[in-house]
Amino acid sequence: AAREIEQQEERNMLIANLSHDMRTPVTAIKGYIEGIIDGIADTPEKQQKYLDTIYSKAIVLERLLDGMTEYSELELGRMQYAFEFVDITEYLSKLAEEYRTEIETHNLSFTCSLADKEMIVLADKNKLKRVLDNLIGNAIKYNKEGGNVMLTQEAVSSGVMITVSDNGTGIKKEDLPRIFDGFYRGDSARSNIKGNGLGLAISKQIIENHHGKIWVKSEKDEGTQIFVYL
Ligand code: ATP
Ligand code: MG
Repeated sequence: AAREIEQQEERNMLIANLSHDMRTPVTAIKGYIEGIIDGIADTPEKQQKYLDTIYSKAIVLERLLDGMTEYSELELGRMQYAFEFVDITEYLSKLAEEYRTEIETHNLSFTCSLADKEMIVLADKNKLKRVLDNLIGNAIKYNKEGGNVMLTQEAVSSGVMITVSDNGTGIKKEDLPRIFDGFYRGDSARSNIKGNGLGLAISKQIIENHHGKIWVKSEKDEGTQIFVYL
């Protein structure tokens, strides 16, 4: 019963956060449209500026809705998987080049250490990319000036361990149990950094559908390590 109350509370929190995240852009859109209707935006330049803002707020809403659709498809088990045998070493080394560019444009350094032999796993490449994009994206977003992002891959007993680490902001102890929950975001992320709080929830679903495991180790102000076992 305690667990049920906890889950109900989580759902209530989730809806409260979500309404808050949706209300902000809606309020802005309404305000700017009123500005146009009331004639506060009284020059073509001002009107254009208002329209640009309305457009960008609509995109924020659209992203949130896309995230919700993706999340509910996963939760309802409607996501279609295309499993195939993948050489994860080759797969990661290709992705790593993309990530290197992305990471370096954010003035962070990138360290990559992959296995030196072929390792075959049964995986859906696109879904796995969704996971890695989010992990690397988080390591970039929640980093510090001049920080580092690290991607490693190694053979472990009957599987492969992939880790994404950063020496960024880290995660508070009390946030740790919740970061894999849908729509959960740390307070500082909520106020400063773009995101829906869905990446890790989606990642967890995807890795579990691969019969793998995903977990976190993090120290506030020190950095974060995410482990993916396949
Ligand atoms: P989205 O992935 O939907 O764009 P998000 O990045 O905020 O949004 P998640 O990827 O699910 O959501 O992460 C959940 C929360 O966990 C983040 O809001 C942040 O507070 C915390 N977090 C995740 N990864 C890191 C990290 N590498 N360093 C510090 N905090 C992190
Ligand atoms: Mg994320």
